[in-house]
Amino acid sequence: MATKYLNDRQLSGLKKLGDIILPGDSELPAFSKTGFELHVDRICKYMNQDDLEGIELLLSIFSWLPSLAIRILLKIAQKPRGEGSLAALFRQLDIGLKGIIFTLYYSNLETANEKAKNIHSVIGWDSQIASYPEEDEMFEKTDQFRLQGQMGDSSEAVMSRAVLSQPAVRELTVKRRLHYIKNLRRYILRNREKITDLIQKEAQKTKTDILVSEIFGVLDHLAFLEKFSERILKDEKVHTPVALLGKKSRIYYEPLGTVLIISPWNYPFYQAIVPITSAFVTGNTVVYKPSEITPLEGLLEEIFTACGFEKEWVQVCYGDGKVGAELIDLRPEKIFFTGSVATGKKIMTQAAKQLIPVELELGGKDPAIVFEDASLERAVRGCLWGALTNSGQSCTSVEQVFIQESIFLEFKKMLLKEVKKIRQSNCDNGAVEIGHMTSPMQIKIVADHLEDALAKGANLLHGDSWDRKSAAIPPLVLDNITEEMKIYRDETFGPIIPLISFISEREVVDRCNRSQFGLSASVWSKDLKRCDRVARSLITGNVSINNVMLTEGNPALPFGGVKNSGIGRYKGAAGLHGFCNQKSILIDGHSEKCEVNWYPYTQKKYSGFDKMMEALFSPGILNFIKFALIGMKLESYSDKAAKKKKVPTP
Ligand code: NAD
Repeated sequence: MATKYLNDRQLSGLKKLGDIILPGDSELPAFSKTGFELHVDRICKYMNQDDLEGIELLLSIFSWLPSLAIRILLKIAQKPRGEGSLAALFRQLDIGLKGIIFTLYYSNLETANEKAKNIHSVIGWDSQIASYPEEDEMFEKTDQFRLQGQMGDSSEAVMSRAVLSQPAVRELTVKRRLHYIKNLRRYILRNREKITDLIQKEAQKTKTDILVSEIFGVLDHLAFLEKFSERILKDEKVHTPVALLGKKSRIYYEPLGTVLIISPWNYPFYQAIVPITSAFVTGNTVVYKPSEITPLEGLLEEIFTACGFEKEWVQVCYGDGKVGAELIDLRPEKIFFTGSVATGKKIMTQAAKQLIPVELELGGKDPAIVFEDASLERAVRGCLWGALTNSGQSCTSVEQVFIQESIFLEFKKMLLKEVKKIRQSNCDNGAVEIGHMTSPMQIKIVADHLEDALAKGANLLHGDSWDRKSAAIPPLVLDNITEEMKIYRDETFGPIIPLISFISEREVVDRCNRSQFGLSASVWSKDLKRCDRVARSLITGNVSINNVMLTEGNPALPFGGVKNSGIGRYKGAAGLHGFCNQKSILIDGHSEKCEVNWYPYTQKKYSGFDKMMEALFSPGILNFIKFALIGMKLESYSDKAAKKKKVPTP
């Protein structure tokens, strides 16, 4: 069983080491028989970070080494010869390793025998050992946790705790932060079924939608963080121009402080964990406000606590838009908002008054563009899934299907055949394609768009059985769509499939680019050059080629929109950098010399700069040599300035 601080490999190294130091005898049990794992976290928690990282490394090595090699190492460490620093190091190693093993061994009153208990009382160890509950137990303690959690705290209290604890997160290395991310990945993987059930209860989606889009998406993102964030966040060397010869330039990626994350209801788990962990791994504390429609009350606190996060590092504030607005007034260092365009505008207006940077991940009206040479069955099934997954309640759902005129009828026929196979339920066992709508408000919007389209001449080809009120909205397939219809212009956010024909590539690109949105699109054709051309011409943040909604399936790709679909990017390297203060550093070695462009200004300097500039920015090697010579001459002026300063004091 991995602990919060040590993984399985490190624990096996610890066990091996412990049994060598304390193999047990007729009276005392061997180290591995004492239930030492229960106390590992308590000790590690108070260790200095460098020491902890050293121990982790050593234990990983021990897990690989044969016992004999560890015995030899311990023997050498026990009897170091001489007074040198190497001898001191060995002594420290000996004391350090034994210290850990003995402490763990005698910590467990439950399993150690009488003799051990006596030793225990002699050394005066506190017998009130805290043990961590098993994960399953944690999960069952939801109600108890809720009472202890942050619910009910004022926004001010939450924000001030987040601000006060931020320096502690800032001080953790990225590697250390990733330790918690790894715990999170393992915990979510182990508890995926329970998490899936909880999401289904609140969001009414199908099990497969939750497992694939929320759980898998989250795990994939966490694995990406583990693999790449150290590299993405390490100090970056950048070019220093020749005019700044002798200097070095760097970018440091530092945390911003406290980040406020406000999320919508459509992917309540994914939209929580992905931005929260991106902000945390970059060293920020997080105040998270979920949607009041799918708050998943208590779940995040439970998960983060079980994974070793301090309570203040990630806090959840429940409530509606009023709570969100309150939190903005408390001036977080950044607002990361996912939601509707209308709310995005309100948030940006409020943030502007305090100059708080905002990132907005807003709505979309994503087109699928199917050319006549596309693989028809794949395109039909891809568009069907893209329009219906999560009951169409995805920001990148396919909301318009543009089909080239020559294949329009065939595409429609195949799509209608496929759509009849769709099964619907909000409490399935995994073998159902679409669930129910999550929010009553959204049902009204879908009904309104449908009625508006029908009134303006659209044909409803599938889904007429819907009473316009039930949350179980069947797939709504329509054709005869015109640009005046809401279903063409506005985000519907429901299981709609409007079929629209087009004639030429230019025409379809122009029509798509007239949209108020620019989130994502898909392009379907055998001609990859055409796909690439269209992808480049579309004014959107993302395009999937011969696939659908797949850019967001790769955590290395930045995600975000243009126009009314938002501002900024999250995920990938750009996403992590978005949660950072990108600090520029210019390093000059220590020198007595003054810069030539500092005061005093002289006519000679002026003309030197003028000539140097002309030489530097003109082509050819001769000009470069000229630049170098003028540069040297200019440097000599600064030398003189320095020398002048060095007037001997009387
Ligand atoms: P919404 O804008 O109604 O609410 C989103 C969040 O904002 C909720 O937590 C809500 O309580 C909060 N909020 C509302 N008013 C606020 C205010 N004045 N100040 C601060 N917070 C406030 O959105 P929704 O209906 O929950 O979500 C659906 C929308 O989200 C759709 O438009 C969808 O396209 C969009 N979305 C976008 C992405 C993306 O990545 N681009 C992803 C998912 C959803």
